[in-house]
Amino acid sequence: MRHLIANWKMNLPQGGIEAWVSAVSSAPSSETAPRLGVAPPAPFIARVRDLQAGSAVPLLLAAQNCSEHASGAYTGEVSAGMLGLAGAEMILVGHSERRALFGEDDATVGRKLAAVLSAGLRPLLCVGEDLPTRENGGTVALLTRQLDAAFAPLAQPPSEILVAYEPVWAIGTGRNATPSMAADAHRAIRRHVEAWSRSATHTVVLYGGSVKPENATELAAESEIEGFLVGGASLEADSFRAIAAALGTA
Ligand code: PEP
Repeated sequence: MRHLIANWKMNLPQGGIEAWVSAVSSAPSSETAPRLGVAPPAPFIARVRDLQAGSAVPLLLAAQNCSEHASGAYTGEVSAGMLGLAGAEMILVGHSERRALFGEDDATVGRKLAAVLSAGLRPLLCVGEDLPTRENGGTVALLTRQLDAAFAPLAQPPSEILVAYEPVWAIGTGRNATPSMAADAHRAIRRHVEAWSRSATHTVVLYGGSVKPENATELAAESEIEGFLVGGASLEADSFRAIAAALGTA
């Protein structure tokens, strides 16, 4: 099943959380419809959980970040286990905004990924190259370095690895990767994870970077793309639903 995850970043949806959850939870479901999820700012995870209680197909709730520690004197931090108690099932690790704006290096991302797994939750590992790296032909080397560093603290491969391929130059810029660029990167990611885990891991690779209703159909037609992580266009329920429809019909 394909996944479509909204990353609200540090924003709330236009029209409010209630209207967004109600519109998205009532999106038509079908056998080919993607699993819909949302990563709200942490204080609103429990609110989304409560709003959709009882809905036929609950949204997959995700957090945007977590501490690498389980508990302790880390003022301002929130652990993976605490986010799980608020309703999160999945946690993003290594989003490029965390790497670029908050100084998260590869080793930190690895410790956070391990913390998410230790809490019994599903990490969504974000990787992606910057523009100079792409232009110099270094994309695959950078992606494999990010993957290796993220997995380094793990004693053994987990049963599932979710990766979001998010080229930095495509995030929030309006400029998306072409389907074939994304497919090449996804293939390289999948091969690397499968080689590392000796195929013991179920690997899912999502694409993120300026996905919107206008380009979702073309991207969704690429079989390597198993779903999307969407920032800006997820804040409006109608455009998120349109992207879901594109994924469901491709
Ligand atoms: C993101 O934040 O993960 C993202 C892909 O953002 P946008 O869709 O706005 O490029």
